[in-house]
Amino acid sequence: MHSIAINNGLCYINGEFVRASIGVDGSRITRISKIELKGDVVFDASDMIVIPAFFNAHTHAAMTLLRGIAEDMELNSWLRNVWRLERKIEPEDVYWGTMLAIIEMMKSGIACFSDLYIHMDEVARAVGESGMRAVLCYGMADRGDEERGRREIEIGKRFIERWNGSFDGRISAIFGPHAPYTCTPEFLRTVKRKAVEMGVKIHIHVSETKWEVEEVERKYGSSPIRLLSDIGFLDGDVVIAHGVWLDDHELGILKESGASVVYNPVSNLKLVSGIPRVGEMIELGINVALGTDGTASNNSYNFFEEMKFASLLQKIRYNRADSVKASQILDMATCNGYKAYGLNGGLLEEGSLADIAILSKSPQFYPVYNPLYSIVYSANGEEVQQLIVNGEIVMEDRVILTLDEEKVVRKVEKLKEKFTS
Ligand SMILES: [Zn+2]
Repeated sequence: MHSIAINNGLCYINGEFVRASIGVDGSRITRISKIELKGDVVFDASDMIVIPAFFNAHTHAAMTLLRGIAEDMELNSWLRNVWRLERKIEPEDVYWGTMLAIIEMMKSGIACFSDLYIHMDEVARAVGESGMRAVLCYGMADRGDEERGRREIEIGKRFIERWNGSFDGRISAIFGPHAPYTCTPEFLRTVKRKAVEMGVKIHIHVSETKWEVEEVERKYGSSPIRLLSDIGFLDGDVVIAHGVWLDDHELGILKESGASVVYNPVSNLKLVSGIPRVGEMIELGINVALGTDGTASNNSYNFFEEMKFASLLQKIRYNRADSVKASQILDMATCNGYKAYGLNGGLLEEGSLADIAILSKSPQFYPVYNPLYSIVYSANGEEVQQLIVNGEIVMEDRVILTLDEEKVVRKVEKLKEKFTS
């Protein structure tokens, strides 16, 4: 008897859709079987599709608060606007903004997100209450000020000590220096040393725009990736968001280092940052995960939309329809995210974390020649019916069981007044 049994679904196992039943106990998948399983809770999935839930590997969840307020701007003017508005954000606002993000993410089949932002205790609180899984870090920068740098690291460190491993292991807390153009090399060296001491990963924005690469070259005489490599910052415990502007040599450095890259296609398009060389990264064996970035630059947390953009952009980048295949896109959206952050999940296999999405077949799935293509190219998210995170059912028939959706939406709409005044 399992705590949850998902019976006879068309399950994505080892890169194929096969008919199987899945048993869940505690936080893990404990059985994959050809025969029906018994459970305290049983889902008949005979007409459903079962996939590992998605991992949104780079976001600033509470930026839902600023969604739609700074539009049609390129990154630098967008950032100036956003940074001005962010000064008005108070801790509790971050809680509500994150809750709204979590609603959207759960409805899109996302079980885990990696967040870099401010007032992170409130993000952790929202994650804890909602049943979501998350990798969290305080977004810090010294901006050339040594004293500020010391304070920032102290906040980042305290956040990790307080939350890492909390809520039955649903929260991983790591370091999040903002970017090489807002953090000095000395600061980044200290962050790296602390991260190694504490045994935690690092999440950082790198080479998102051409401007940023030129700025770092002007300041330090080296491109961001070369700089990070030279100061001993890059290794398999680092996750780089974006990596849009990389030359051949930098791709080689990344591969050697074992660092992961998060591809954020919609945000890169919207802020006209560019199209990263994902096809080549995959060929080189670099682990590439998928992210939405914050909703102020996206503007949604719809991972089906993100997968489709991820695929189409690479086709155009290389002028080749098979430059990145649908199965590689689905891996980016699932197991590659877990792998980037050192979590054993994103796969339907025994021992894997029980983060599972059960999908119905919407009209746009038919005829179902291969569910893989329906999921990557034609689904819109309404298909996600049940979501299991860490072995707990958090959404059933698209109703989130762990929070009050109405209340969250009302609260966020009310907060609008603060940012427009
Ligand atoms: Zn970002």
